[in-house]
Amino acid sequence: MTSPDTSRVDAYAAHEPGASLTSFDYEPDVLGPHDVEIEITHCGICHSDLHLIDNDWQSSAYPLVPGHEIVGTIAQRGALITHVDVGERVGVGWQCGSCLQCEWCERGDENLCASIAETCVGRPGGFADRIRVDGRFAFAIPDALSSELAAPLLCGGITVYSPLQQHARPQSRVGVIGIGGLGHLAIRFARAMGCEVTAFSSTAAKEEEARAHGAHHFVSSIDDTALKGQRESLDLVISTVNSPLNWNRYVSALRPNGVLSFVGALAEPVTIHTGMLMARRRSVTSSPIGGRSTMREMLDFAARHTIGAQVETLPMSEVNAALDRLRRNDVRYRFVLRRD
Ligand SMILES: [Zn+2]
Ligand SMILES: [Zn+2]
Repeated sequence: MTSPDTSRVDAYAAHEPGASLTSFDYEPDVLGPHDVEIEITHCGICHSDLHLIDNDWQSSAYPLVPGHEIVGTIAQRGALITHVDVGERVGVGWQCGSCLQCEWCERGDENLCASIAETCVGRPGGFADRIRVDGRFAFAIPDALSSELAAPLLCGGITVYSPLQQHARPQSRVGVIGIGGLGHLAIRFARAMGCEVTAFSSTAAKEEEARAHGAHHFVSSIDDTALKGQRESLDLVISTVNSPLNWNRYVSALRPNGVLSFVGALAEPVTIHTGMLMARRRSVTSSPIGGRSTMREMLDFAARHTIGAQVETLPMSEVNAALDRLRRNDVRYRFVLRRD
């Protein structure tokens, strides 16, 4: 019988760019004093997993084990890990390490650290039965959140929670562009924060579901007349889409001090008239995931308001079917893989 310390990890990996995933096992690194081993029960699928599989960022190394919305229980912990116990349920998102010493880490902005370590970049991720990671980036999952609902919060959730935490307050008027995996979570969070929420979508048929997630208003994201009607009406607009829109219309929709934040990556550069920014001291920004304190706050907030992603759960053995459907945008709204 093999001891848990030496047994190999069973995972699913892509062996070349764009390939389907196949079974793959590897020997885990030695468990360091700050590390934990997590017995994975669930792992969400994020669009970034597709980008990694396809080597869209020219940084992928194969075999590549995707997965960075990991939920499971602590199977082992290093000697210096005390904030989570063996058997406790935890989650790990996109970030699994940083220097913890630079000015950004000391401020709680570990996501801005130059030495950021990413969960499935250059190391195997969560489409697996286990993972060993720095336990300082493993977060206790509150009891009120099921593992399925919690998994997508660890990347998708924190991505939209961060700009809300930074730029919104109760009574803020918040616009969310795109009602997909990120957008529906942004609407749910903003509503629970007490904001007045306007959903923007190119699909008129999504009005009903946008309102069901908590949007007070619905506006076509491509109807120029409708967008003109939004002039100076919003304090924060979060764009979750990856297709180009008339961004200057969204800038003019901002009130004084308003912020347009991009959390969806666009292939094309964005052209904005600086005069429109200057006139009302508006700004355009973006943000990557969130630091550790923001992650803890987000999980607490989600638990308190029972906010999770709307998910479709599949057994991990059906990972390729899920990835194929995600490529066709055929998901409401996030896939979560459950260990078979
Ligand atoms: Zn992600
Ligand atoms: Zn740092």
